[in-house]
Amino acid sequence: MTLNLFSESEIASEFQTDSQSASQSAIAHSPQPAPSFDSLEAALKHFFGYDRFRPGQKEIIEAAIANQDQLVIMPTGGGKSMCFQLPALLKPGLMIVVSPLIALMQDQVQALQDNGINATFLNSTVGSLEVRRRAEQILSGHTKLLYVAPERLFSEQFIVFLEQVQARIGISTFAIDEAHCVSEWGHDFRPEYRQLRELRDRYPEVPLMALTATATERVRRDIQQQLCLCDPRVHIASFNRQNLYYEVRPKQKRAYEDLRQMIRQEQGSGIIYCLSRKKVDELTFRLQSDGISALAYHAGLTDKQRSQNQTRFIRDDARIMVATIAFGMGINKPDVRFVVHYDLPRNLEGYYQESGRAGRDGEPSQCILFFSYGDIKTVEFLIDQKPDPNEQQIAKQQLRQVIDYAEGMDCRRSIQLGYFGERFPGNCGNCDNCLRPKDLEDWTVEAQKFLSCVARCKERFGMKYVIDVLRGSKDKRILANRHHELTTYGIGRDHSADDWRVLGRSLLHQGLLEETTDGYSVLRLNDLSWEVLRKQRPVQVALPHRTTSQQTEETPINRAQAEMLFDRLRSLRKTIADEQSVPPYVVFADSSLKSMSQQQPQTLEEFAQISGVGSHKLAQYGIRFTQDIRAFCIEQGIPLRDRSIGEAPPPPPPREPNVTSTHFFTLDLYQQGHSPEQIAEMRNLRVSTVIDHLTALLESGRDIDISNLVDPERRSQIEAAIERVGAAALKPIREQLGEEFGYTEIRLVRALWRMRSMEV
Ligand code: ADP
Ligand code: ZN
Repeated sequence: MTLNLFSESEIASEFQTDSQSASQSAIAHSPQPAPSFDSLEAALKHFFGYDRFRPGQKEIIEAAIANQDQLVIMPTGGGKSMCFQLPALLKPGLMIVVSPLIALMQDQVQALQDNGINATFLNSTVGSLEVRRRAEQILSGHTKLLYVAPERLFSEQFIVFLEQVQARIGISTFAIDEAHCVSEWGHDFRPEYRQLRELRDRYPEVPLMALTATATERVRRDIQQQLCLCDPRVHIASFNRQNLYYEVRPKQKRAYEDLRQMIRQEQGSGIIYCLSRKKVDELTFRLQSDGISALAYHAGLTDKQRSQNQTRFIRDDARIMVATIAFGMGINKPDVRFVVHYDLPRNLEGYYQESGRAGRDGEPSQCILFFSYGDIKTVEFLIDQKPDPNEQQIAKQQLRQVIDYAEGMDCRRSIQLGYFGERFPGNCGNCDNCLRPKDLEDWTVEAQKFLSCVARCKERFGMKYVIDVLRGSKDKRILANRHHELTTYGIGRDHSADDWRVLGRSLLHQGLLEETTDGYSVLRLNDLSWEVLRKQRPVQVALPHRTTSQQTEETPINRAQAEMLFDRLRSLRKTIADEQSVPPYVVFADSSLKSMSQQQPQTLEEFAQISGVGSHKLAQYGIRFTQDIRAFCIEQGIPLRDRSIGEAPPPPPPREPNVTSTHFFTLDLYQQGHSPEQIAEMRNLRVSTVIDHLTALLESGRDIDISNLVDPERRSQIEAAIERVGAAALKPIREQLGEEFGYTEIRLVRALWRMRSMEV
């Protein structure tokens, strides 16, 4: 099934017209030569603002530039995209990225464009006129990356188009993202991916780069064979995600309070996974009632609701997403700060992938699993519903592995990575078991009570019943069985039912007790049980943590200040993102905001040093961020390093270094009487960029007449609002003014107001 919005013949004509008009434009604009840099690091900083490569990236990029075939296996968040994005910019020709996920494609293109990089995509969501426009751009040699869905790649028209691309500007590489989709042995097989081998037949000289986050040995072999990779360089990164903190918490009666407290303590976005739609809805409702901005996501919602909720989550309009595992595949939000499994995951691979959606930006993030024995029963029940005994068998084994992980006392990383066949020495320093080794407590006496109660009940009852007897319950069944007359009745009141369950499960796991598996789960004694009862064998139990949060260090003043500034910059980022209708992380990653709040760059030069600030972002956002940071410093009494502000009488501000010719070009057109919209059109810029130019000019001391842009009456209203709430942040000003005022006019007036207030 194709999802094209237009018929095949329309596509044909669309590409034909394209090629004709583009052949003319290709003459006009010959392809731009690849820029040269002193080092790959310099190129990385220039385009993306990062200071160093993540492990493996540099070697992969070098091999890509040397036109080698490659297979790249990196965990989620490892930075796979960079491995083809940077080569795309450094090699001549067009990089073609095959990606099966439309949302992901749009996301990546948006992030690239926000770095000033000419990237585009073609998929079923793009209308025919727009397809034509993009095709023209590509053939003129300006586009460096083209993302396409695999099904489109082999339409007749696209094949013709590709020939033209190859002939005119050259194809630099085919990057195949999510390459495991080519294998039936992977978890996400897509038949269209099988066709990709044709690329090799048609373009034997164009290198292929296959990338994936999951690949067992079997899938790895499949990828190489199916795509006909030619003696590829294989890069397998460790699956250890060092920035993720893993913890398993007991899910007891107060689990919800525990969860709520955790959400309140943490900053940033979180995903909470539940096992069923019903639980998702219940938990979402509860969180919302507690004033936490949470949304639901599951297969029972309409497509529209789902995509709306997803967008709101990605844009930070809602903090928490409560979801079934239907949510997450193809979601590229890098700044998820915690993933909570409120119910038991079905298997460890799933747990690794789902929890791995935390911290893709490499920042410290938490993965918390709430574990209860009741949940095991639920999952066991679900498994029993499976009709195929073979599937049941596999599911049971997977459940066993999850339980072993949850109950394990070893480093959580060792257990997880061991599951993927990777050896990890343990002692990671970033999981609950390494940070707070569990205490082994001697529970021999309790074990004797428990086992003797099983014996007195004639080994005919399950865990819950035995515990009820121990705790002296007045349950009808107990009274009817006259078990309230047993010597063990009520001898366990000194421990909670949860404690007894921990002990009971532990006895089962240690083989000191048996449980029938015929569907009734009756407890039975074995030889070892009798050894315990005869006092021949001590029993130790690993007690789950009762503390609920990570140790909190003392907060020195400057850390508190950094946190305040972080919050403030977050809201500036949100304002800018809303103005441009993009997710906040597209503007800056959390890690960049964190460095800004720690280093507090006050000038554009200092700002340029921050990781994540490339040349394009410096020009786009530098002024607004440094202004906000300076305002913050003034409020906090932090000395300003830049003498331009804060001294009395303040000298006129020096011309900001980033008011460059491009700003003056805009100014020129503006003073000739063109509107920002017209200028944007003429200069092929966004309107918001043109406004950025004008505000930057105003703030650098140019007196520009904005009466054509802002009505004088509105201007004085905006000025009055600024007088009331200050000029530091736009949002409070807008809140003063109300919805009918736009950010653009507020920014312009604010810039003018700032300039004037400095003149005094
Ligand atoms: P993957 O596709 O492997 O899951 P991404 O390519 O989405 O990972 O990268 C995850 C995040 O890491 C993105 O926000 C990306 O911008 C960032 N990133 C990539 N390379 C670097 C680097 N060298 N330094 C800092 N951040 C990086
Ligand atoms: Zn550990």
